Amino acid sequence: MVLETFPVGVLQCNCTLLGDEATGEAMVIDPGDNVAYILERLALHKLTLKQIVVTHGHIDHVGGALRLKRATGAPVLLNENDLPLLEMMDVQAAWLGVVPPEVAKPDENARAGMIVGIGSHKAEVLHTPGHTQGSISLHFAPEKLLFAGDTLFAGSIGRTDLPGGDARQLLFSIHDRLLPLGDDVRVIPGHGVETTIGVERETNPWFVGWE
Ligand SMILES: [Zn+2]
Repeated sequence: MVLETFPVGVLQCNCTLLGDEATGEAMVIDPGDNVAYILERLALHKLTLKQIVVTHGHIDHVGGALRLKRATGAPVLLNENDLPLLEMMDVQAAWLGVVPPEVAKPDENARAGMIVGIGSHKAEVLHTPGHTQGSISLHFAPEKLLFAGDTLFAGSIGRTDLPGGDARQLLFSIHDRLLPLGDDVRVIPGHGVETTIGVERETNPWFVGWE
C-alpha cells in the first residue's frame, strides 16, 4: 500500500494519497489545494487516480477537488449534507482572504455505510456530523486506519462555531461512531499529527472519563 499524507494549502489540511501497487489504482482524500504536487506524487508512484473523497465541505479540504477531477477524470465523493457549504464557497474564501476555488456538485453522495477505496483497500463511510452536517470519517478496517476529517484531532476536536456546526452532535459522533472502532486504530486527522483511538480515549480532554 502506498500511503502518503502531506499538508496542503494555507490551513495545512492533511491530504492523503492512498494507492494499491498491485492494481496501480489510487484514491485521494481531501485535496484542499496543491493539486500540482498531488499529480506529481501520483505520477511518481505510477498510480492512476480512481476516486477523490472529501471528508467535508470546508474550503481547505475541498478546494482542489474539481481541479484534480479535471486533471484525472476521477469522480468526487462528498456527503450531500454539505452541499450548502459548497454553495457558499465565496463566503468561505472570504474567511481566509483567498480567491474562491471553483467547486461543483459531487459526482456521488458519500453516504453512511458506503464502501469507498481502491484495489484491496476499502473503507466504510461513517457519517460523523458535528463539525459540519456532512462530515464523514473513513474506516479502513483491515488496515486499522481511520481518516477522521475535522471531527477528531490529536488532543482536540473539530470546531463547531462555523455554519452547520453542533458541539453536542460532534461529541455524540465521536462517542458512538469513532471510539468503538478500537484502541489500536490509527487516526489520521484533517489537520496536525496522527494519533490513535486509544490515546485519544485516554488523554483527549474533551471526553476523557467517558464510559
Ligand atoms: Zn473543516
